[in-house]
Amino acid sequence: MEITHTFAGNPFDRSDAQRRDPAWLDAALRDPSSRFLPLSHLNVLVHDADELRLGWLSRADVARLDVAASPVFLGVLDGVAHFAIDVSELGDALHELNLDEAWRFDDARAAAMRLETSETGILAQSRAQVGWHRSHRCCSACGAPTTPARGGHVRICGACKTEHFPRTDPVAIMLILDGDRCLLGQSQGRLASTGMYSALAGFIDQGESIEEAVRREIREEAGVIVGAVRYHSSQPWPFPSSLMIGCHGRALTAKISIDTAEMADVRWFGRDAVRSALRNANPELRVPGPIAIAHHLIKAWADGDVDV
Ligand SMILES: [Zn+2]
Repeated sequence: MEITHTFAGNPFDRSDAQRRDPAWLDAALRDPSSRFLPLSHLNVLVHDADELRLGWLSRADVARLDVAASPVFLGVLDGVAHFAIDVSELGDALHELNLDEAWRFDDARAAAMRLETSETGILAQSRAQVGWHRSHRCCSACGAPTTPARGGHVRICGACKTEHFPRTDPVAIMLILDGDRCLLGQSQGRLASTGMYSALAGFIDQGESIEEAVRREIREEAGVIVGAVRYHSSQPWPFPSSLMIGCHGRALTAKISIDTAEMADVRWFGRDAVRSALRNANPELRVPGPIAIAHHLIKAWADGDVDV
């Protein structure tokens, strides 16, 4: 069964043909029915009344703002064009937009816990794209300024004309199994300070397959040798622009040797301990919640739904 994780499920038609048509984009930007999602320092505008929703604004709202950033075309839904817009340069965007207290700029992780899945997908696209524009203002080939084109799906260097495209960084995240135990760890830093254990993860290297990355990361961080690897599901993770590629793997060795530069602790946990942790009923073990693909990798194994 395919899982639609948080930050996936984006309903937009990304409309590649239209975004290559400057006249269509220009008309969409001026269309009164078009919708705009502001982000300020990568926090997203939300409307929090009975339920939390993304804070879409009209063209008339956005036209009053004095921002230099070009709106980024996200896609079309039910014939309506949708854009994200970076309003970080405004001192107090909420005040300038004259919005009441039901509106605020929210951290993407916090918002994603309460938004519908389809809206978390839109949030992931918006945050990753706006973040990419903020951090790619200059050409990585010659250093000259770049300008956005095709609705923000490319930046072109004004000097050497190199085209730069939005990037997605693949991360392998894997739950390694040994009989009726699974391998969980605490990375140095954030996880260690929360006391939480999770599936191990790492960026996929250049010139490396997913399976090779799984085996290398586990060998490096835990000293465990992995044999069979099976893909489970994937999750966009817009912090800033990763794709988490979730796998299960079968251990060939059990002895753990921790890389203390990366990991604070790595241990084998039995299935009963993990099941109670998934129910928040294990005082000895905390695992990530359903917002994270790690939760679903762990739950699939705990439920007996993994064959690797
Ligand atoms: Zn250049």
